[in-house]
Amino acid sequence: MLLTVEGLRIGIGTLAPVDDVGFGVDRGQILGVVGESGSGKSLTALAVMGLLPRIGGRIEAGHIRFDGQELVGLPERRLRRLRGGRMALITQNPMTSLDPMMRVGPQIDQSARLHLGLDRRAARARSLELLADLRIPDPAAVYALYPHQLSGGMKQRIVIAMALAGDPELLVADEPTTALDVTVQAQIVQILVELVRDRGLALVLITHDMGVVAQTCDRVAVMYCGRVVERAPVDDIFSQPRHPYTQALIRCIPRQDTPRGTLSGIPGIVPGAADHPPGCRFHPRCPRASDRCREDMPLLGGALDGHGAACHLAEAA
Ligand code: SF4
Ligand code: MG
Repeated sequence: MLLTVEGLRIGIGTLAPVDDVGFGVDRGQILGVVGESGSGKSLTALAVMGLLPRIGGRIEAGHIRFDGQELVGLPERRLRRLRGGRMALITQNPMTSLDPMMRVGPQIDQSARLHLGLDRRAARARSLELLADLRIPDPAAVYALYPHQLSGGMKQRIVIAMALAGDPELLVADEPTTALDVTVQAQIVQILVELVRDRGLALVLITHDMGVVAQTCDRVAVMYCGRVVERAPVDDIFSQPRHPYTQALIRCIPRQDTPRGTLSGIPGIVPGAADHPPGCRFHPRCPRASDRCREDMPLLGGALDGHGAACHLAEAA
């Protein structure tokens, strides 16, 4: 697998908002990392990109291996070379990636110049090509615009073009469509899927939308309270979900006519890292919780590419 994460534990202050997280993704594959907000998905993405220090976080345990290379403990200058180069991050809010004072074309050029060593002309040619690949009409005109002159969907395409400029093998997309209208969301997701199919990229798609997972992903890791509670090929997740949380997520897939972004079907909220319940962290919300669940933490077994669930009932079955 191109990227494997194993036993990942993230510390912030005295808390461990992410613990024992593991998953893998290969070239030409889409791994969905799904869960409600507060489940640790974004922190996990930052850890993979080596960006935890920017938010005051650190990796306390585990492995992140990219193309066989251990990234945990790698010096910042080596991580910086990988970031925007062989691996790139796309975030929910395009404005965190775009400089509002700079035309968008040259922002794409920068990445190609930095990571591919292209000169100004070659970088510009490559940027225009990327804009065309992303089905942006009149790339030369868009190249010269400022971010505020673009719609949300166009801004997100520019961010994707920036991510592609360094010719990455791995893309990590953290809720890339959450800030967009539903129709634009579908277009952006379609673009990402085509990039994976056409260029053989590996994509980690972080989302709270099980509908998107069903349509796009090859494999799924379901996160709850900082842990992976179920991990499986996508068909298995939907045909035989083993964890009560996964089962609840599937039950609340919004229909076409209900607003996205909510998982209102599961009563209760995700407890914060300071309030992780003992035993199974899902027990306060689980309709099937027993005494054992309140004391013993169920562990996720099985291989990264198999089907496992961290639930005492799943073990028994
Ligand atoms: Fe529910 Fe118990 Fe399974 Fe946790 S271990 S999901 S509380 S049944
Ligand atoms: Mg998030």
